[in-house]
Amino acid sequence: MFNLAKLLNKIYSAETPDLKDMEQVLLLTQKGQLDELFSFADNIRKEFCGDGILLRGIIEFSNLCAQECFYCGLNKSNHRLKRYRMTENELIKAVDYLGSCNIKTLVLQSGQEEGLDALWLRDIILKIKSKFNMAITLSVGEKSADEYRLWKQAGADRYLLKIETSDKALYESIHKGMSFARRMACLDDLRGLGYQVGTGNIIGFAGQSLKTVAKDIKFFKHGNFDMLGIGPFIPHQDTRMSQDPKGDAALCLKTIALARIVTKNTHIPATTALGSLDQDYRVEGLKCGANVLMPNFTPQPYRKLYEIYPGKRCVDEPVGNCNFCMDSMAKNIGRFIDYSIGDSLKFRDGSRNKGKPSPLEGTVLL
Ligand code: SF4
Repeated sequence: MFNLAKLLNKIYSAETPDLKDMEQVLLLTQKGQLDELFSFADNIRKEFCGDGILLRGIIEFSNLCAQECFYCGLNKSNHRLKRYRMTENELIKAVDYLGSCNIKTLVLQSGQEEGLDALWLRDIILKIKSKFNMAITLSVGEKSADEYRLWKQAGADRYLLKIETSDKALYESIHKGMSFARRMACLDDLRGLGYQVGTGNIIGFAGQSLKTVAKDIKFFKHGNFDMLGIGPFIPHQDTRMSQDPKGDAALCLKTIALARIVTKNTHIPATTALGSLDQDYRVEGLKCGANVLMPNFTPQPYRKLYEIYPGKRCVDEPVGNCNFCMDSMAKNIGRFIDYSIGDSLKFRDGSRNKGKPSPLEGTVLL
């Protein structure tokens, strides 16, 4: 008879998890088995990350983008979208408010802007670091190693660059004009420069199989990333994938649980996208392995214009409301908001310094 506890322990203990084992877990549908999986992952989250939920305050400072990712509402061919880039004053004011809410990690996010002035961003990083006690995560796409270095030297701590899928053919079929090798090289540069590096995937692309998702998790393990964002595909009306079905919430939750079991102490958010399906699945995400929430501090009128996918949670909320909501979300599940800076837990176990292979050496992907 199928012994799920034995299978989960095998995956947990493996240096390199077996793809077929993970696929078997991703196939689970029975409620009792899903409860067992989620509880197993939740215990690992508790053991390695504790009960605190870290907050990453996000400011989407520009929706300009030079790329044409087929799933994203910010793609350059979407001429219906009104474009913006916040001014330095607006940005610092938003950071000021974020700091007043006791948030210690700022995520500065934009589309992959061709005209982004590296020195402009460097000066903003310098200003924020001199004025506030907070970590800065950048999420501005594929850039040159020199630009990454400039921002690191100015004080940026972390960088988020999602891989979206570890399947090269699938990646290149939905990222027009972009290359998988370039993405890998950027992740490699970021790691080499000493950033805490986050990546992640999207669940539900047409052409993505359970095996693909299992490979994504293997990729996450192999790269020893500091943070993983796992969220569902949500079709946007002004993209080439507008007619594709949205990603399955249950598969997202199973992927989060497996990523927790396999990567153990990686920071994993219950993403805003997970909260933007037919219901808010962020609580379920927190109960099956996630340990981070990402309140949005993008001021209006810009917040509505950062529409990667439609129906995004909280776009009409006043800035700062997310904070209160997340506090009660945490309390309702017997957890608490951890207002510490929340650096990578890989520092604590020393694994970041053990010369783990870079994602570029990702032969295990095949
Ligand atoms: S996913 Fe990023 S790079 Fe791609 S179109 Fe959207 S904002 Fe631009």
